[in-house]
This record gives sequence, C-alpha cells and structure tokens, in this order.
Amino acid sequence: MIIANWKCNGSTEMYKTWSVDFSNELLHKKDTYLGIAPPSIYFGDIKSYLTCIPFIGVQDVDYLDGPRTGAISVDMLIDMDCNFSIVGHSERRQLFNEDNELIKKKIESLNNKIMTVLCIGETMVESQKGSTKNILEEQLGIIKGLELNESFTVAYEPVWAIGSGLTPEPNDINEIHKYIKDVVQSYSANNHIPGVLYGGSVTDINAESFFKKQYVDGALVGGASLKGASFAKIVNIFNGMKQ
Ligand code: PEP
Repeated sequence: MIIANWKCNGSTEMYKTWSVDFSNELLHKKDTYLGIAPPSIYFGDIKSYLTCIPFIGVQDVDYLDGPRTGAISVDMLIDMDCNFSIVGHSERRQLFNEDNELIKKKIESLNNKIMTVLCIGETMVESQKGSTKNILEEQLGIIKGLELNESFTVAYEPVWAIGSGLTPEPNDINEIHKYIKDVVQSYSANNHIPGVLYGGSVTDINAESFFKKQYVDGALVGGASLKGASFAKIVNIFNGMKQ
C-alpha cells in the first residue's frame, strides 16, 4: 500500500501535470493499494480526473455533522465515495492541537465506514530519551477495546523524520512496525493485525531500504509525492518488491 499525502499543496494545474508525469513513469500495473489524499477542496475533481490512481482519500475528518464551521464529516466522505481518511497526523496534533481523545472520536466515527489510516510517531526528544515505544503505546491506547475494521491501517511517522530528510534505520523501523502490530492486536477487541506504513522523508532513493523489511507494508509519502514522476518511482520500487 502506498499513499500520498499532498497536505496543503496543489492546484488544478499541478495535478494535471502530475497525472502526465506519473503515467509516463509508472512501470508495473499491479493491484497495489495506491491512494492520494489531496486537499479536500480538490477531492471531487481529482477523483474524476486522476483515473491512474484507484483510491482517493482525505487528510483528516471531523467526527460529527452540524454546526462545526470548516469541518467535513464522515457522512460527507461516504456521500463523495471517499476511499480512506488519514487521522492523527503529527501536523494536526501539533498545529491544530488535536489530542488522543479527539483522534479516538474520529476513529470511532470512521470505523466500518471509511478505511482509516492512523498516524502515530514520537518526537526527536522522545526518541533520544528512548521512549519511542511508550509514546506509540500511549497513542495506540485509543483503540483499546474497539472492534477494528479489517482495513484499519497504522502509519508510523516519527515526527522528526517528516519533511526533514532524516529517517530512522530500516532495521529500527522494522522492529517498531512489529511492535505496532503486536500492540494493535492485543488492544483491539477482534485482535486485528494492521498493515503498517512507514512515513517520514521517503523518496525514490531510500524507499527500497524500507520496503525490504518484513513488517513494512508500504509507505505514506509527503514531499516526494508532489511530483508525479517521483511518486511513480516509489510505486515502481514497491511493485517490484512486495505483493
Ligand atoms: C507526511 O507528512 O505524512 C510525510 C510522510 O511527509 P514527508 O514524506 O514529506 O516526510
């Protein structure tokens, strides 16, 4: 599974060029889960225009309808035939003060309706203190007792790796992914073992080193997904290595 997170980037012109560059570079056509989360205002246009991408999702969602200015609800995602929603991205946590309680409500409202990609990750300070696993366990605490849909996915995104050009060692990522799978399995009511994506400065240069690892089920790609050709190269690497 490879998902692009375009964040607050893009324009009509950009996604049209993107589509040409992506299609020119894409080698293998496999049934890899391939998705893009564009800014929501482009959602409908991109869903009908980017036919080379099978799944279009959103970067975030709200957990209620009604008087909540600026929000987009799960019912609206269903109405628009949205394929997935990212929740808990570190930028939402840091810039918009989203906490685990709020993210939990979002997961509960998405569960069994829209595929959920929950982002978790530690800061540099937490990593240096050796508390990565404690932080991840706390962030995953919100799914305790939930009967998770089989599509429920986790993206491990160390905050310090996002957009920085820094990444953890692939072996460390592998160990953390195994840990995440074990924690989700033990916390969820139905012992769900999630797919775990790695996110944080993934490029077409380093992607192979991550995809080689057993517990890396794919990637959530930010910066490198903004150019169609770079994103296609990452997809090609994945398709050449994983089922
Ligand atoms: C992200 O923000 O989800 C992300 C992975 O960003 P980047 O690839 O730019 O580090």
